[in-house]
Amino acid sequence: METMEKVVYLDNAATTACAPEVLAVMTQALSGACGNPSSHYSVGYEAKEFVDTGRAQVAKAINASPAEIFFTGCGSEADNWAVKGTAFTKARQNKKHLITSAFEHHAIMHSMAALERMGFEVTYIKPTPEGYIRPEDVEAAIRPDTALVSIMMANNEIGTIQPIKEIAEIAHKHGVWMHTDAVQAVGTIPVDVKELGVDMLSMSAHKFNGPKGMGALYCRKGIWPQNLIDGGSQEARHRAGTENVAGIAGMGKALEMAVAHLDERMAHEKELRDYVIDRVLKNIPEARLNGGLEHRLPGNANISFPGLEGETILLDLDMHNICASTGSACNSDSLDPSHVLLSIGVPEEIGHGSMRFTFGPQNTMEEAKYLCDVLEEVIPRRRAMSCMWLQGQNTARQFSLKGEN
Ligand code: PLP
Repeated sequence: METMEKVVYLDNAATTACAPEVLAVMTQALSGACGNPSSHYSVGYEAKEFVDTGRAQVAKAINASPAEIFFTGCGSEADNWAVKGTAFTKARQNKKHLITSAFEHHAIMHSMAALERMGFEVTYIKPTPEGYIRPEDVEAAIRPDTALVSIMMANNEIGTIQPIKEIAEIAHKHGVWMHTDAVQAVGTIPVDVKELGVDMLSMSAHKFNGPKGMGALYCRKGIWPQNLIDGGSQEARHRAGTENVAGIAGMGKALEMAVAHLDERMAHEKELRDYVIDRVLKNIPEARLNGGLEHRLPGNANISFPGLEGETILLDLDMHNICASTGSACNSDSLDPSHVLLSIGVPEEIGHGSMRFTFGPQNTMEEAKYLCDVLEEVIPRRRAMSCMWLQGQNTARQFSLKGEN
């Protein structure tokens, strides 16, 4: 098979390239608006104009008001702020219990662990084997001292979409604040904070063709997680630091563009995803899809190939100019099994052979077909050299022979 000359980028959940229109507005902000948005003279006002426009664009895209958007240095910072800031605020009322899921991104998992080391208590809700959090499990975990429920909107590894609206209703029924990490959802599927009824929601610009190092936290009017970054009076005195003017301008433009073409984009990604899932499950023995198909990000296919290590497949794909991942990009240096796959009950040895393919608007059907061609060649060839696979096949044969007797 001939290797495609161009890079086939199938890791859009890890990050995306800046759209040309985003680069244009950022270049304009970087080269023109040289003032500080807090300064009271013309070049300061010019910089503030970029910040105000970016804030209005982000707010409009998620049906919030501009005063409810607080820019941060990344999605991880937004998550840290929502979780730790709420814990510190609510600790003053002696509410020191938090609820989250067992398969959150590390920005949430490690924030929760840090709070546990400080004496807070955390309940980790286990997802179903299909990768969904059941609202009734959240309700059962709520206690009189619960400060926060934080459940991600869409899982970054298996793409399953959670019933956030129902969970927020339950949290509010018990007087508990509700946060959702919507980093994988914003710009990818419809997100309306009023419809969801959440108090806080995290986003990250580089997931929807905006710049890296740029995030935001939506805080519903009247909800104030304690500041984590103190200093000047930026972001309505809630997050200090001179604004990343170009980053904010780029984030606003990118999100405006992403939501303008959302239906079209979702249909396109779903077509590629479903093609790959159908063909791989049909043509590669024992390949299995991780996470349910019904409520799933349109561009996410997470597939296990028993008998192989994901890292081996990753290298083979790279030799064919295909970029994919074995799980979360933030954990790509670790050989530990994915906590997400373990949480939905995927056995460790199968979890090790899992690959995540995530499609974006720029991917084509030709690329999806090429991925399948490559997998159909690489997986059987590697399995023929894999002790793990050959041993597994022998055991299966012995079982079936015994069955025949
Ligand atoms: N939350 C989720 C679900 C993510 O997928 C990511 C990034 O992959 C983050 C948080 C962190 O975002 P950032 O890379 O902007 O810090």
